[in-house]
Amino acid sequence: PLNEMNLTFPALSENERFARLAVSGFLSVLDPNIAELSDIKTAVSEAVTNAIVHGYRDTAGEVMMQVRIFKDSRISIKIQDKGCGIPDVAQAMTPLYTTSPEEDRAGLGFTIMETFMEKVKVKSKPGKGTTVILER
Ligand code: ATP
Ligand code: MG
Repeated sequence: PLNEMNLTFPALSENERFARLAVSGFLSVLDPNIAELSDIKTAVSEAVTNAIVHGYRDTAGEVMMQVRIFKDSRISIKIQDKGCGIPDVAQAMTPLYTTSPEEDRAGLGFTIMETFMEKVKVKSKPGKGTTVILER
């Protein structure tokens, strides 16, 4: 990568905003040509919220985030938690699928990530955690 930043923060709901603004700040300072900053922030917000509310539903823990900038303004953003993991990733990524309907969740987080980013990769293991990589 041409540039990279790494950030680790506790899984607290107030840190969702921080994560979104940190990504935005890093990308805008280093590459002001990235026009779709608000799209990227929306996708990051969904992934970080998932790590906090689902990954660490029953435990405290940390969210790790890595942002990389490549040639031609290609970027990749990795959001990782060491929380509960996802038993069936394909099912979890299905539009409107949610395990938290009672919390008024729509089940659209992954769909939003896929809408706003070119590629969304998810690796997850029950009991080990989840890694989401957003690329565009
Ligand atoms: P919304 O994002 O619309 O508020 P949601 O979070 O339930 O609702 P998605 O973001 O699409 O919808 O996620 C679908 C499901 O995948 C979640 O309900 C949850 O069961 C699971 N999930 C997503 N991210 C994680 C994660 N980091 N750790 C554990 N489970 C996850
Ligand atoms: Mg979600």
